[in-house]
This record gives sequence, C-alpha cells and structure tokens, in this order.
Amino acid sequence: MTTPSEINAAAALYGNRFVTQEVPSREFPDVGMTAVDAMRLVAEDLALEGEPGRNLATFVTTWMEPEAQRIIAENLHRNFIDHAEYPRTAEIEQRCIRMLADLFHAPGETTGARTQGSSEAIMLGALSLKWNWRTRRQAEGGSTDRPNLVFGGDVHVVWEKFCRYFDVEPRIVPLQRGKYTIGPGDVAPHIDENTIGVAAVLGTTFTGHRDDIVGINDLLVQLKQERGLDVPLHIDGASGGFVWPFLYPDSPWDFRLEQVRSINVSGHKFGLVYPGIGWLIFREVSDLAPDLVFMENYLGKTDSTFTLNFSTGSAMVLAQYYNLVRYGRQGYTYIMRNMQENARLLGDKLEAMGRFELIGRDEEQLPLVAFRLTGDHPYNEFDIAWQLSAERGWMVPAYTMPPDAHDVTIMRALVKETMSREHVDTLARDIEDACTTLAAKGGAHESERARMVVGPGH
Ligand SMILES: *Cc1c(COP(=O)(O)O)cnc(C)c1O
Repeated sequence: MTTPSEINAAAALYGNRFVTQEVPSREFPDVGMTAVDAMRLVAEDLALEGEPGRNLATFVTTWMEPEAQRIIAENLHRNFIDHAEYPRTAEIEQRCIRMLADLFHAPGETTGARTQGSSEAIMLGALSLKWNWRTRRQAEGGSTDRPNLVFGGDVHVVWEKFCRYFDVEPRIVPLQRGKYTIGPGDVAPHIDENTIGVAAVLGTTFTGHRDDIVGINDLLVQLKQERGLDVPLHIDGASGGFVWPFLYPDSPWDFRLEQVRSINVSGHKFGLVYPGIGWLIFREVSDLAPDLVFMENYLGKTDSTFTLNFSTGSAMVLAQYYNLVRYGRQGYTYIMRNMQENARLLGDKLEAMGRFELIGRDEEQLPLVAFRLTGDHPYNEFDIAWQLSAERGWMVPAYTMPPDAHDVTIMRALVKETMSREHVDTLARDIEDACTTLAAKGGAHESERARMVVGPGH
C-alpha cells in the first residue's frame, strides 16, 4: 500500500485515516470525510478530556435521567424562539416561569424569561434595574448619567462584566479574612440616589454561603421609609435558587422580602438540567422595564422578546419542565438532602484528618465542602489539587479568595447527585493519600504547579 488512494481505500475499510494523519485544525478543509471518520475524530479528541463525573469543581449538571436525555435528543431540531411554529414549547416556558415564581413566593401575577444561563439572566435583570432607575430619576428631575450598582466581592464575575458592558459604576464591598459574604453594614455606605440596585448572592461560588439578605432587605426598607430612596434588591440565586427552597424552606431570601424585585437562577446548576438554561423571575410585571421588551413579527406572528440571544434550542426548556414535574418539591428535597448528607460526611472525614479547617460548615450552605489547610506543611492547597488530579483524576479546585481576602486559599468539592457514599469514602482516602505523597516529596514541583489549571469560577 503506497499510493494515497490505496491508503484511503484501506482506511475506508478498516478505520480512520486520522489514526496516522494530523487532524484538520487550521485551514478550512477542501474536502470532507465520511460521517464515521468525523464521528471518530471528535470522539478521540474528547477521550483526552476530564471525566465530568469526577469534576467536583463545577456547579453545572453532569448527569440526567435517561428519560430526560430522550426528551433532549428528540427535540434538538426545535428553535425555541419560534413561538408561532412551536406554541406548546412557549407555553411550557411560561409554565416553568410560573412554577418558579410560585417556588420563590411571588405575591401575584408576574413575568420572567428563559435565558442561556444565569449570566444572561443577570444582564437582563440588571438592565431592567438600570432602566427603572432612569425612569425614577427622570420623574424626580434628577441627573441620569452616573448609575451605580452595589454588590460584594463574593459575586460571580458576571456582575463586573455587566457593569463594564453596560456602563454602570460597580461599587464593590471588599471581603475580609474570615468574612466571605456581605451584610447591611457593608452596603449602606455605598448607596445613594444613583444606585440602580443592590445585588446579593444566595450560595456564593467561593464558599456556598449566602449574603445577609434579610439584613440588606431591612436596610433598604428603612431607606425607603426614612429617605424615600426606593432601591431594589436583586438576588443572584444561580446556585441557591434551587437549593434553599428545599433545604431551608423557612429561611426567607426571596419575594417574601419586600425589596427583592428580581431573582435569577441557573436551571443547569441545582435545577439539575444540562447546560444551558437559566431563568429570570420578576416580583411583579411592573418590575420589568417595558422599554426592554421588543415586538417582532419575523416568524409569522407578532411576538414579544426580552432576551440577549434570539434563536436557541428548546431542548433544555423541555428538560427543565420534565424535572419540575418529575421531581416536584418532594423529589428535589430528597435529592438535595442526599447531597447535603454526603457533603457533611465528606466534611467530617476531612476534619478527622486533623489538617483541614472547614469554612462555615454550620451555616446555611450549598451542598459542597469548602476547606483549607491549617498548620505547617511542606505543601499547599494548589499542590493537593494538582496531586489529586494527577493521581486520581478528581478535579477539586484550589483558588485564592477575592480582595481583601486574597491571602486566603480555599479548596472546594461540590457534592452532586451522582457523588455516592462510596465516592465520598474514596475521595477522602485519595485526599489523604495525596497529602502523604506530597509530605514525602516535600510539596509539588514548580513544573507540576505550573500545570494546574482548575479555577473556582463555574
Ligand atoms: C454560576 C454562577 C453565575 C453564572 O451563571 P451561568 O449560569 O453559568 O451563566 C452567576 N452567579 C453565581 C452566584 C453563580 O454561581
């Protein structure tokens, strides 16, 4: 076999020619390949990727039931935005919005939107804060050129992104060593008549705790009564919005609190749907600035849209509805409690090792374990993360906290639906082994550390 055509003929019969050839990677290919070759090419690339089941860094769903997967697979050809052609999908979106509004204790009729994730939901929610602030300011004859938004250093990067993209001054409350959430005393000095809103987090990416939302709400109510400043509170419940209603149903953080005007939640985190689906829910219809809603009739029927994207898949909306009706409050509670129980067990095991300190384990928290080393060791948290991943394929990130707590390094393990008791036992043993190895070799080598890529921000 020497000529290219002989090689191609053999590859067609016995396998993939990219077993020995470089894959297309720079130039747009002149000719294609067979479907089987293309499939193998992609699959072989992905074989080198991390195993999602051992990715304890991500908050995003890595497992769904086979029945849900079937719904997803059967609806990949449906464009969500085409409400004229797919009115049942549009109705199912509205059902999800109503059910979430009910879960979050909306007082009455409300509105909301399906988004690609919490990031889009936050952009839209914060835009609505900005537009409503402008209307308020114009009504009182004030200037509208210096809007600001108040939030803590414990927020996700999307909040700073919003401020930069949409020209709003971020007023960020710094964290402190040992204090990784914010409360009313932190935000009070930053609020003025140009504050479009305050954003508080329910379940931070860093340690899984919530800001003092009740305290911040009380402060804003007081400001309204005493100074006539009506500053809305937006809750970033990307993770917590599907956790608190089930694990801490009596702890108010949602529309039970007067100044909470909008909430975002990621369906693809604890909503237990594959990426990308998120939700934005308003307290009342009037909390959505009407100027942000566009009417269009391209697709055969006049329709209103309030999104940053236009065309997108329907599958994850349908999968979200599947989960809501499949699990209900009881099912979600069962799953969240299991995760919480296994997170507690992992926490106990880490504490028993005598070298780790758990961060805020007695507070309301997402089902995860946030921990750090105590005492003197020849290795640090980054070394442990590297060793665990190299030896056992576990992805457990180590990261430094945001300012002014940036001298604190934390590790974090998400305990998800598929993290069984057996996995917890194994992970704990693997962490112990990683520490033993690191102690023996005096920490990870610089070259090893340089290869560490796992970060906190999913
Ligand atoms: C994940 C996360 C986001 C971003 O959400 P996506 O759904 O990934 O866009 C925002 N805020 C918090 C608190 C998060 O945990």
